Amino acid sequence: MPDQDPADAAAPEEGVGRRCGFIAIIGAPNAGKSTLINRLVGTKVAIVSHKVQTTRFPVRGISIVGDSQLVFIDTPGIFAPRRRLDRAMVEAASSTATEADVVLLLVDAVKGVDASVTRIVDQIRAIRSPVILVLNKIDKIRKDELLALTADLNNRHSFAATFMVSALAGSGVDDLMTYLAKIVPEGPWHYPEDEITDATERATAAEITRERIYHHLHDELPYQTTVETTSWKDFKDGSVRIEQTIFVERESQRRIVLGDGGKTVKLISMESRRELGRMFGRVVHLFLHVKVKERWEDDPEHYREMGLEFPKE
Ligand code: GDP
Ligand code: MG
Repeated sequence: MPDQDPADAAAPEEGVGRRCGFIAIIGAPNAGKSTLINRLVGTKVAIVSHKVQTTRFPVRGISIVGDSQLVFIDTPGIFAPRRRLDRAMVEAASSTATEADVVLLLVDAVKGVDASVTRIVDQIRAIRSPVILVLNKIDKIRKDELLALTADLNNRHSFAATFMVSALAGSGVDDLMTYLAKIVPEGPWHYPEDEITDATERATAAEITRERIYHHLHDELPYQTTVETTSWKDFKDGSVRIEQTIFVERESQRRIVLGDGGKTVKLISMESRRELGRMFGRVVHLFLHVKVKERWEDDPEHYREMGLEFPKE
């Protein structure tokens, strides 16, 4: 046995033996990508809604398994884009997948193979990093159906591995994490140990308010709104004053967001404030303004705020 100081063995040099990888989570809208990243990270980094296309830009959530740092990237769903914002979202998802070390293709097992899954499976042929099939929502499907679906998908593409999970209930998620920790590349960690997301608190705060809008407003309206944090003041007593603007495209939409006597925006504000207080662990004073900005979707500034590329046409 070579001479070795036991203290050295216990505390390896920083970076030695470590692994780190970027793992993109892709899939059709509503497959459960945001629910999964929150589960993987163990805390809420991405907003979730039963409505499609809630996630507009890639969000990173970080977790550590043994010597591995796993940097998960939640992406907007991949679908056939129509509007300019749709195109920016889909492009962001596709380029994130191309640059990642590992790609998780999340499929809603209840929906099975539909048009959007077929489309994505066609696109992933261009990806060189390993693609792992993750069947989600297994809490809602029978075992034999699940096995048939697994066989079907593996016939369409040769996945590096297949996992079956319930992002909502948590089953299967630990096995997935253990596997990922083993296959990510060797190398130093990209983020400090205690970091769980690279989203700024301002951006997170805007997302939480947007989630509440998805919760309380119906039909197309949430898609025609965007939220910006316009002011952030920290106070000595630990509390924070946050001002945000909800942009809508028309006066009629502004009236809906406000509600009778302002009751809808008050409800959104109250719930968002509560959730932000919990997330940040401090008292939050939240002030929401609702403004009409026609065609905000055509304004490059809003894309920069979300970290999206502005599609030229
Ligand atoms: P995304 O569009 O892919 O990010 O999907 P979300 O994470 O926003 O989830 C879409 C919907 O599916 C939400 O209503 C979730 O609560 C639901 N969902 C996500 N994962 C599961 C799961 O494992 N089981 C069940 N039953 N529902 C889930
Ligand atoms: Mg999402």
